[in-house]
Amino acid sequence: MPELPDLLYICDYLRRHVLGRTITAAELRQPVVLRNAVGDPLGHALKSLTITGIHIHGPFLRLTVSATLELVINLMLAGQIQHQRKPDRALGHICVSLHLDDGTRLNICDQQKMAKVYLVHTGNDAVIPGFRTLGINVFSPDFTPEELRRRAAEHPRMQVRALINDRTILDSIGNAYADEILFAAQIHPKTLAGTLHPDEWVRLYGAIRDVMSDGVRAVADARQPIHIKVRDHMRVRNRKGSPCPRCGSTIRREGVRGYDVFFCPTCQPARRRVFIDWKQPPPANSPDTLRSDTDQPA
Ligand SMILES: [Zn+2]
Repeated sequence: MPELPDLLYICDYLRRHVLGRTITAAELRQPVVLRNAVGDPLGHALKSLTITGIHIHGPFLRLTVSATLELVINLMLAGQIQHQRKPDRALGHICVSLHLDDGTRLNICDQQKMAKVYLVHTGNDAVIPGFRTLGINVFSPDFTPEELRRRAAEHPRMQVRALINDRTILDSIGNAYADEILFAAQIHPKTLAGTLHPDEWVRLYGAIRDVMSDGVRAVADARQPIHIKVRDHMRVRNRKGSPCPRCGSTIRREGVRGYDVFFCPTCQPARRRVFIDWKQPPPANSPDTLRSDTDQPA
């Protein structure tokens, strides 16, 4: 799932390369991804319109294509957006392809066909699930330590991992960066929000700002094509079995509410009594029942 640093990079790229381009044709290859609130077939509705605005809103990428129409994209678990500059360089699993007047194409690809593309009249975003219920953006000036605690105070029984992942509380933290944030803050993912100490709130807030800012820089510095998800800079995410970069303990993976969570059992000790002692190595024959991919739909 692209997260905020990925989406900021995609948005910046598209503003430089696609903004102002006119759509000459729109192909809908996988009708299951389209939510058409306009009625006109996609190809008919978009033909000859110019992309005049590109924005992100939580996990959504919004393309303004006229004074009255918007294309809102949620790439979900495995969707990718590709700017195809050469005819023979298309990614596989194209669901929607916008042909642009400079000969390039903007492709929305998803092997799982879970991505969603909404064609809506401007202002009619109420038809997009989750669009109007998004929480605060972590780069907003209104996102302060006090605001984080105020929002969390409404959910004292929520595990902190689920809390920072909840799009109605914070709009922009997915699974990968949630793990990195809790590692930086040295907080166990299952800690209940209501039991965090004042110094832990300070660490958590600082980690959110720092990890997300570092992520933005790392993704920008990698200069990859926009369909590549940059994760090399991550310290615990998808690093089960590797040594913790802080203390050398073995990074573990656990399921939290059905999703994979990566953490260091030494740097992020459990506050509550837990049934599994994560500091012990797993039995050699223990089945690893968790899913190997690690992201969740937004
Ligand atoms: Zn550690």
